Amino acid sequence: VSPSGNHDIIAAVATPPGRGGVGIIRISGKNLQLLARVILGKLPEPRRVEFGGFLGEHGQVLDRGILLYFPAPHSYTGEDVVELHGHGGPVIMNLLLTRCLQLGARLAQPGEFTLRAFLNDKMDLLQAESVADLIDASTADAARCAMRSLNGEFSAAISRLVQALIELRVLVEATLDFPEEELDFLQSAQAIQQLQAIQQQLARVLAASRQGALLQSGINIVLVGQPNVGKSSLLNQLAHEDIAIVTEFPGTTRDTIRQSIEIEGIPLHLVDTAGLRETSDVIEQQGIARTHAAARQAGLVLLVLDSRQGMTAADQDILNNLPQELPVLTIYNKIDLSAEIPRIAENEYGMVIYLSAKNGEGIDLLKNALLQAIGWQGNIAGEGLYMARQRHLQALASASQHLQTAATLLDEGNTLELLAEELRLAQQALSAITGEFTADDLLGSIFSNFCIGK
Ligand code: GDP
Ligand code: ZN
Repeated sequence: VSPSGNHDIIAAVATPPGRGGVGIIRISGKNLQLLARVILGKLPEPRRVEFGGFLGEHGQVLDRGILLYFPAPHSYTGEDVVELHGHGGPVIMNLLLTRCLQLGARLAQPGEFTLRAFLNDKMDLLQAESVADLIDASTADAARCAMRSLNGEFSAAISRLVQALIELRVLVEATLDFPEEELDFLQSAQAIQQLQAIQQQLARVLAASRQGALLQSGINIVLVGQPNVGKSSLLNQLAHEDIAIVTEFPGTTRDTIRQSIEIEGIPLHLVDTAGLRETSDVIEQQGIARTHAAARQAGLVLLVLDSRQGMTAADQDILNNLPQELPVLTIYNKIDLSAEIPRIAENEYGMVIYLSAKNGEGIDLLKNALLQAIGWQGNIAGEGLYMARQRHLQALASASQHLQTAATLLDEGNTLELLAEELRLAQQALSAITGEFTADDLLGSIFSNFCIGK
């Protein structure tokens, strides 16, 4: 990715590869009016649909289509942008792209148009990321959520937090710099209450972000258990189609089998495994190695048991082999054979669900338990959620920690330097989310809010 200040001309095919009605080449850079004139054979008017032939180097018509010219700064990237809408075939697209390269463009790197949009302040970092999230959205709810980020709602929530933090820092810094002031800034301005309000607001944003992250990327769930307990059957029952091989013989599922399902709009990526157990069978060993790898990437484990046997020493072994802190739901399967009723209970490892993978009894209980176990709060259609990435969650959590420390310091009193530093770190963490670095903003804010010129 090119550094800021790089104004070379970039070009790329903006439509997906393959054949389609229309194919679009996007070009961004400086002085593209000249390039557009050479291609079109006449000067294009800004933001007007120009229909005509796209000319090759010998004046031959490569394709006929529409040229759009967006002069800087009123374009996606903030630079001059030209779009060529031609016929959507790979050969035509290649010819047009090659023509652009002849005229001085180079191939754009992935995301480079959006990077330029960010560098030219057309959008902040959150919005830039949401462009990718919108394109990658795998459900309608996720798309809606990404669109809200692109519209700047997530950014606005972060900005409000940063603004409130700046106001509090102004107080604290002013108190630091002018200890002789009679006025007790902190007390009169109710610094503790301000801090608490910020903490509460941050907690709300963090919760909405965690939910948004679930909606966006879902969670990996790995099914473990001894052979023949019904892992593949359970996967089939959840997925409502026969993807895993179900057999009467133990040890048939030798490879991990993945299947993504959706419950209440949350993508759940299920991985059926050969079971975490010792074996001398080479093929099965390979499957087990994959199981361990899958378990390491999982956010949740389903341990499947035969309810006629209950939890055995082998099952305990499986549990002990799992990465620690990984939440586990235990499934007592085959209740149609053990005369148990479908229900949810609790054991020392967590929730237990009695069900039948064969006839589907208790599957609804499992679905609810799954959503509960991954922390989904049943938000309606992504409303009020933020399309957060891991980077945002980490930054929010880090800001939250600094605020917690700040609150403790404020409680103890007399450690204003440390308090100021924690507030600064919290603000820095938040600002990193939208990609602005506000180190010097604070000074400006102090002088504009307070008349300290004495
Ligand atoms: P896996 O090795 O753990 O994947 O087990 P499978 O899903 O392949 O199932 C092994 C056998 O148990 C198959 O014959 C299934 O039809 C049967 N089975 C699985 N779940 C149930 C259940 O809930 N009830 C009954 N009666 N049979 C089941
Ligand atoms: Zn299986």
